[in-house]
Amino acid sequence: MFELLKEQPADKILMLMQAFREDPREQKIDLGVGVYKDAEGRTPIMRAIKTAEKQLWETETTKSYTGLAGDVGFADAMFGLLMGDAVPRNCVAAAATPGGTGAVRQGFDMIRMADREARVFVSDPSWPNHITMLKHLEMHMQPYRYFDSETRAVDFAGMMEDLADARVGDVVLLHGCCHNPTGANLNLSQWQEVIDLLVKNGVTPMIDIAYQGFGDGLDEDAAGLRMVVSQMPEVLVAASCSKNFGVYRERTGLLMAVAQDPVRQKANQGMLNHLNRQNFSFPPDHGARLVTMVLDDPALRADWEEEVREIREGVLGLREQLAAELQRLTGSDRFGFIAQHRGMFSRLGATPEQVEAMRQSHGVYMVGDSRINVAGLNAKTVPVLAEAMVAAGV
Ligand code: PMP
Repeated sequence: MFELLKEQPADKILMLMQAFREDPREQKIDLGVGVYKDAEGRTPIMRAIKTAEKQLWETETTKSYTGLAGDVGFADAMFGLLMGDAVPRNCVAAAATPGGTGAVRQGFDMIRMADREARVFVSDPSWPNHITMLKHLEMHMQPYRYFDSETRAVDFAGMMEDLADARVGDVVLLHGCCHNPTGANLNLSQWQEVIDLLVKNGVTPMIDIAYQGFGDGLDEDAAGLRMVVSQMPEVLVAASCSKNFGVYRERTGLLMAVAQDPVRQKANQGMLNHLNRQNFSFPPDHGARLVTMVLDDPALRADWEEEVREIREGVLGLREQLAAELQRLTGSDRFGFIAQHRGMFSRLGATPEQVEAMRQSHGVYMVGDSRINVAGLNAKTVPVLAEAMVAAGV
């Protein structure tokens, strides 16, 4: 029967990682995969996570199953981190999932269970997995304009025009912060305009937040999300701990369904448990437990917040250095957007040919749509990228 299966296209980012590994040049620069790297190119285990891991090793007494929704302590801690006091805890159903990907996937599944005809509006561009998962689930997807390739900022007028088509029963997927792949984000007054539109047309928002703390700060990056949950009757939130806790391979994420009252919350909790049971049964616990320990212990939390700040400021510093270097080389301000973008990514706006030229001439690897992972740079490689960009005519 296997011969009936169609070959699936290879993942572009994984292909890029492979090509990078095979490139013999020593000076090559990997700006492809979306993983944080320090100045030495390492993806470290965060200090607080390492300490929690040692404590857990001493104190953990069982590896028996947790609950279907994972450990309630994890949901409580993540609720606090994401929502602050924007909404009452007893209106929020939550289930741990294998990473943020698992949370997005379970969220899509929940939408499909509610209404097979629901359309999911997805920013153009978006994280490619959003699109492939919707296709895989045979759901209706509707792209909305998001990125202005001239200014490299959000095409807000285009976005609002396209979102005006969404109706009751439709879902609008929004990135909570640090938009992947563009790095261009809504400001708070734009968030408010989006909320007003969705409220007016009875549209349900779903927020994917995978980089809280990497943009402007932990609370600042959740500000849009908190506005949404405090003003809208129903919201889905898919959160990833992979990046901001550095627990990529532990597969740690959370799906939350925000409702208006505890009765609906209970029904939603049952649905999230059901979906976990059908898809993988109990979610992974190790990463979730470490995250909970870090968030619940004041000293570990302070150290984690400090390390997130160091990461954020490091990336911002690289952005500023790159924008300044390009300004120096070109005498123009047109690359100022790099310092305005937030999070690990920026879309440079280069053509596929220019992306290829930068790879050939300077060994700079980035995704074909010219998304760079700024954290893949360091003070020494910023000038190389700037030179490659200028040489390729970006
Ligand atoms: N959403 C977005 C927008 C992302 O960029 C990512 C990570 N690439 C995720 C979700 C999920 O990541 P993970 O499954 O590794 O937690």
